Amino acid sequence: MIQKNTRETRQSIIDACLWMNSSGLNQGTSGNISVFTDEGILITPSSLPYEETQPEDIVLLPGDGLLGEAVGRHRPSSEWKFHADIYNKRDDIHSVVHTHSIYATALSMLRKDIPSVHYMIGVFGGDSIRCADYAHYGSKELSENALIALQDRTGCLLGTHGMIACGGDLKQALWRAGELEALCQQYHLACQIGKPSILTAQEMIEVRERMKSGYGVWPKKD
Ligand code: 13P
Ligand code: ZN
Repeated sequence: MIQKNTRETRQSIIDACLWMNSSGLNQGTSGNISVFTDEGILITPSSLPYEETQPEDIVLLPGDGLLGEAVGRHRPSSEWKFHADIYNKRDDIHSVVHTHSIYATALSMLRKDIPSVHYMIGVFGGDSIRCADYAHYGSKELSENALIALQDRTGCLLGTHGMIACGGDLKQALWRAGELEALCQQYHLACQIGKPSILTAQEMIEVRERMKSGYGVWPKKD
């Protein structure tokens, strides 16, 4: 279901940002969040501290958002391009969360994919979490690299930068961001004490088949 551009939707983005920082999933003004609405893309303003952000500070990128035209009193997130490109490429995604969470960002510095070291990798649609090639923050190239890493997936690392988690709605995107960070922490810890086992391609097919029954999909309240 596509959200409406309401004060409630704008407030839910701010609440999500505040939660991200208080839960340790992000820090400072790093990261950004957007929701695809009936009027366009609602996205956090660039580098405005989340504690100061009010609903009217959230920026609207009208329509498909691809021109970067912004309605509001602030500049949109510097990463508006990959948010807009993801929505325009993927009908299944209505919310995008980008964070510099500690473990995902640490692993992104290695610029390697995360293999299927845990069945929860299946939450992201494949056998691995890909790491997008490095490109400068806010660049068109970063967006292109992210789209490649997100092909058939709902989450990825961004080389030497952080992570992206996507969802059918904000709740699901936030949930995936938390799960991805936990996976990165678990993978990091396992690598300290040995060489993690990797689930086989067939085991991962079976995991994703089980998840099709609705794992991580919740009934809408409204
Ligand atoms: P913004 O404050 O412009 O969203 O930038 C944060 C960020 O994480 C850039 O990659
Ligand atoms: Zn970033």
